[in-house]
Amino acid sequence: MIVLRTENLKKYYGEVRALDGVSIQIDEGELLAVIGPSGSGKTTLLRSIAGFVQLDEGRIYIKGRDVTDLPPEKRNVAMFFQNYALWPHMSVFDNVAYGLKVRKLSKEKVREKVEWALNFLDIGHLAGRKPNQLSGGQQQRVALARAIVVEPDLLLLDEPLSNLDAKIRMRIRFELRDILKKLNIATLYVTHDQEEALSIADKIAVMNNGKVLQIGEPREIYRKPKDLFVADFVGVNCVVKTEAERLRRIGLDISGQREVNLVIRAEEVVLDRMNVPLTKRSNDLLLNGQIIGKQYLGAKIRYEIKLKDLDENIFINSEENFELNEQVHILVREGSYFIY
Ligand code: ADP
Ligand code: MG
Repeated sequence: MIVLRTENLKKYYGEVRALDGVSIQIDEGELLAVIGPSGSGKTTLLRSIAGFVQLDEGRIYIKGRDVTDLPPEKRNVAMFFQNYALWPHMSVFDNVAYGLKVRKLSKEKVREKVEWALNFLDIGHLAGRKPNQLSGGQQQRVALARAIVVEPDLLLLDEPLSNLDAKIRMRIRFELRDILKKLNIATLYVTHDQEEALSIADKIAVMNNGKVLQIGEPREIYRKPKDLFVADFVGVNCVVKTEAERLRRIGLDISGQREVNLVIRAEEVVLDRMNVPLTKRSNDLLLNGQIIGKQYLGAKIRYEIKLKDLDENIFINSEENFELNEQVHILVREGSYFIY
C-alpha cells in the first residue's frame, strides 16, 4: 500500500525555490531517505508533509486521503526533529504520554500505550527518570517513543542523529534501522549524510535546489547516478572537467560533446607504482600520473596526483607510502567512473 504520495509540491520564498515540483512516494514499511546539501529543501519538504508549511502548489496524500489542506494534528504523522527537545521538568513517562493526553485518551489507555512504546524501545526501566538523567542515546529513544506512541501512519525524521557524536552515531544508525523495520512504519528520513542514507535506507531521494534529481535503491543511486550532481554528491569522488578528445585518446569510446565531466569514485580506484602492473579490462580506465602532494591522515595518506593525459590534478587516498614526484598509475574499473 502507498502510504505517502506527494504530487508536484512547490514552495517559493521570494526568489528561493525551496520546493520546485517534488513528487515522491513511500510504501508501507519503507524507509525513504532524502539527502542533499544544506539549503536543498529537505526540511521544507518534511515540514510541508507534516502540515507546517503552506504550499504554493501541489497535493499531499496519506493513505489515499488528500491531507493538503488539513492542519498538522489531523494528518496522523509524527515528526522527530534534529534537536528532539524533551520537556526537562517531565519524567520520561510523562514526556511520552503527552501526545496521548492531548488526544484525551483514558488514563489506562495512556499507560498501556506508553508502556508498550517504552518497552519496544528497551527503555521501560527509565520511565521515572528526568531527561537530564539520560545519555544522548537514551534521550533519543525517548523522543522516538514519543513519536511512535501515537501510532502514526507516517514517521518524519529530520537529521535525527546529527546531535550525537560520530562514534555513537554509527552504532545508533543500525539500531534505529532495526527499530523502524520492526515497527514496519513508512518513514521519511532527512539527512545531509549520504553514508548514513546509503547504509539504512530502502530508497534514497537526492535533492538539490528544491528538486528531486533521482530516486532509487541505495545501490542504484551509487552505481547508476543520473547526473553529475548525484554522482558527485554520493561517495568520495574526483571530478575532472576535460575534453572528450583526451578521453578518446586514452581509449574511452565516447562520442558527442567537446567538454565532459569525468567523475571518478576515488574510494574504489587502484593506485600503484608504474613498475607494478595493473590489469586493465576493456572498459576500465588506466591513468598515468605523478605524485605532487602528500598529506598524512593516519591509516591512509592523501595524495595529490597530476594526471598526465588529462592535465588535471586529483586526490586519492592510499595506505601505500609513495614518494613525492614518484610516477604512478591509477586503475579505475568500469562502473567506478561516470561521464557527463
Ligand atoms: P535543507 O533542510 O535542505 O537544508 P531547507 O528546506 O531548510 O533546506 O531550505 C531550503 C531553502 O529555503 C533555503 O534556501 C532556505 O534558506 C529557504 N527557506 C526555508 N525556510 C524559509 C523561510 N521560512 N523563509 C525564507 N526562506 C526559507
Ligand atoms: Mg534541514
